[in-house]
Amino acid sequence: MMVHAVVGAQYGDEGKGKMVDYFAVHADMVIRFQGGGNAGHTIVNEFGKFALHLVPSGIFNPKTTCVLGTGVMIHPKNLVAELQTIKDAGIDTGNLVISERAHMVLPYHIWQDEYEESLRDRKVGTTLQGIGPAVQDKVGRFGLQMGELRDVDRFRKRLEEAYAFKLKRIPGLKDYSGEFDDMWKELMAAREVLLPYIQDTSPLIQTAVSEGKEVLLEGQLGVMRDLDWGVYPFVTSSNPISGGIPAGAGIPPRLVTDVTGITKAYTTAVGAGPFPTKLEDESGRHLQQRGQEFGATTGRSRDCGWLDIPTLKYGTWLNGYTKLALMKLDVLSGLKKVAICTAYELDGKTYDTPVPGYLLDNVTPVYEWLDGWDDDISACRRREDLPESAQTFVKRVEELTGVPIRYISVGPRRQQTIIVEEELA
Ligand code: GDP
Repeated sequence: MMVHAVVGAQYGDEGKGKMVDYFAVHADMVIRFQGGGNAGHTIVNEFGKFALHLVPSGIFNPKTTCVLGTGVMIHPKNLVAELQTIKDAGIDTGNLVISERAHMVLPYHIWQDEYEESLRDRKVGTTLQGIGPAVQDKVGRFGLQMGELRDVDRFRKRLEEAYAFKLKRIPGLKDYSGEFDDMWKELMAAREVLLPYIQDTSPLIQTAVSEGKEVLLEGQLGVMRDLDWGVYPFVTSSNPISGGIPAGAGIPPRLVTDVTGITKAYTTAVGAGPFPTKLEDESGRHLQQRGQEFGATTGRSRDCGWLDIPTLKYGTWLNGYTKLALMKLDVLSGLKKVAICTAYELDGKTYDTPVPGYLLDNVTPVYEWLDGWDDDISACRRREDLPESAQTFVKRVEELTGVPIRYISVGPRRQQTIIVEEELA
């Protein structure tokens, strides 16, 4: 594995953090290529438990260069706070690099997020972190880039112009706005901390890739939240699919050699939007409680449902998975029967991959039922150690997706992972 992407195969929160942390042990470089601080990875390691929102999970390994790539939207103050929690645990953050071309999420983007969400009848369920509005400004060509923080006078002028333009375009924003001076102070305080990390990341990445170093790309959210391919409009404002890598990290597509899709053994989703296999019964409560399904960023409880193969197949093509990691298999323990959704039905037709978000609410999932298992599997370290019915479950997911499952996660800790050397017999 040289340039290895780790991407979410569902609606986000699949457990990418654990697997990136696991892979990062051997990585020379970890790159975030899209998104912002609107999703969180939870990492449990020897230093403690961390909810990382922006900082790549490789930060805990001093030999790993961690890159916040050009495609990442950065809220300076929040990044400073996140870095502080890592420093407080005694970890040096000198291995972090921030792309000078990455765009900033500014305080007025958060005000705009709140204002715009207040205007919507059906809420998008934004985390109100200002990412969407900041992306709008980036696309609208009046965003501000991290490298602009270097020249204070020029930056002040650019900020004043951009903010005045914004207020002209969105007069209603005024009622939601704070003081310009407070915004300025916040940014200047963050500048002091962040300036040393800001660089042109391209030569670094180019050298690492050319020298055959292990480069890990850390995707955020998942395929169903992709701006182009997800359950629009209940999507994020970037491309978490592997197609987002070339633009967001600045790596040519042909150089991405491996793509690991991360999926839970069931499905969860947070916030509004369609979710075909959602459960509102005892099994759903089992998954939520046993899986501790509460958001790392928002604390919101996640809806839970059965594993959705159409979603996994969809990502198999879009992301080009070379392998899958099946997470949280331990959470299914204690269920008498477990279901796998193999297809959807809509208006007399059968679909084996998702229909667009505007139709997905109307589909009926087709289920295949398998036997559950009672045993606690969190101590299993080989697939043969798993109860027979759990092995059957894993094998069935492989058969239905056509992608080898190379990692089976049976608990939150790094060592609670089964590494599958070869395909299941
Ligand atoms: P991410 O955003 O994809 O990294 O996912 P989150 O960090 O939001 O959610 C994953 C949660 O599940 C975290 O609290 C992890 O510690 C936990 N977790 C990861 N893998 C497993 C597993 O195999 N079993 C259990 N029980 N928990 C896991």
